Amino acid sequence: MVILLAGGNGSRAGFTVPKQLAMLGGKEVLRWSLDAFAAHPAIGGGVLIANDDVMAAIETLPKGWISASPGAERQQSVANALAALTDRDDATPVLVHDAARPGVIAEVIDRLLVALGDAAAAIPTLPVSDTLVEQADSVAGNVVDRSALARVQTPQAFRLGTLRAAHAAAIDATATDDAQLVRHLGIAVTTVPGDARLHKLTYAEDMAILSELLGTMTMTRTAIGMGYDVHRLVADKPLWIGGIEIKHSHGLEGHSDADVGLHSLTDAILGALADGDIGDHFPPSDPQWRGAASHRFLSFAGERVLARGGRIDHVDLTIIAEAPKIGPHRLAIRARIAEILAIPLDRVSVKATTTERLGFTGRREGIAAQAVATLQLPEN
Ligand code: MG
Repeated sequence: MVILLAGGNGSRAGFTVPKQLAMLGGKEVLRWSLDAFAAHPAIGGGVLIANDDVMAAIETLPKGWISASPGAERQQSVANALAALTDRDDATPVLVHDAARPGVIAEVIDRLLVALGDAAAAIPTLPVSDTLVEQADSVAGNVVDRSALARVQTPQAFRLGTLRAAHAAAIDATATDDAQLVRHLGIAVTTVPGDARLHKLTYAEDMAILSELLGTMTMTRTAIGMGYDVHRLVADKPLWIGGIEIKHSHGLEGHSDADVGLHSLTDAILGALADGDIGDHFPPSDPQWRGAASHRFLSFAGERVLARGGRIDHVDLTIIAEAPKIGPHRLAIRARIAEILAIPLDRVSVKATTTERLGFTGRREGIAAQAVATLQLPEN
């Protein structure tokens, strides 16, 4: 069971909507907590404390969830949730969580539930890393021993009976969390390691911090694409490979400049995007691509990645040719590809091999290229 507190309607400085409805990575801040709890196998449901406006914005709750109205104070909100759980056994584990902490981590839930095996209450904490001092009127005072202090996060875990007793006896209306009420009963509260991703959304600038903290957690997926291309070698044509012209007796024949390296790389990126192939976007039947410089195809593919909100993590290109030697041109090719795709040089690999004089490449009839592109794309 979860009691998820999303009752606050104070929109602090910098928020145009209540902060639990602010959009973070394509979904409401509140939805992050709901999704994380719904995805955890040990959590069967919960009570969402939210007003009508928030409920209208959220529309649907996960299976096993109900809603209850917020109270004037945090304690009253938790009491309203407890009133909605009267049919539950005192031994039921319950997690109380503040929806302003969207980065709910399964491992923290696991730690809390394990700790609850031996304890009546467990809370996640983090060490204090900054030096702490007393301060008055902009004057620093004594240093406070930070080794004896910890930062408290939510969710906080309790046996339902313990939480009921704590709220029934609550004498401290100013308690900022439920663990304090439990301690007032003389019940020990166990601590487990918290997580930086449980960062609390308080000010507008916290949105940027949370995007950074949560960005790679669930918002992106890795997509890998491969490309392969072959062009025929003919006498007396310029040879373009990997975006540079290489002096050679022969060049590659094709509708465009026949840059086999950039073509395979373009197809690798389009492959990772599941966005067809180079021929779909630049049909050989279209005269405007006759003799076209292939960097246009590659930059097009790179722009398709950006248009999806993704990024290129890495590209790896292998040129298969008996001649000319690619080694001396490798750095120039890497630099040119990095320039076309606007990515750092260390994300571009170029390799070359012969086929030991075997096959069409070995007989110098043509040059082949293979490429692999690794992208990060937004999850949606
Ligand atoms: Mg081609």
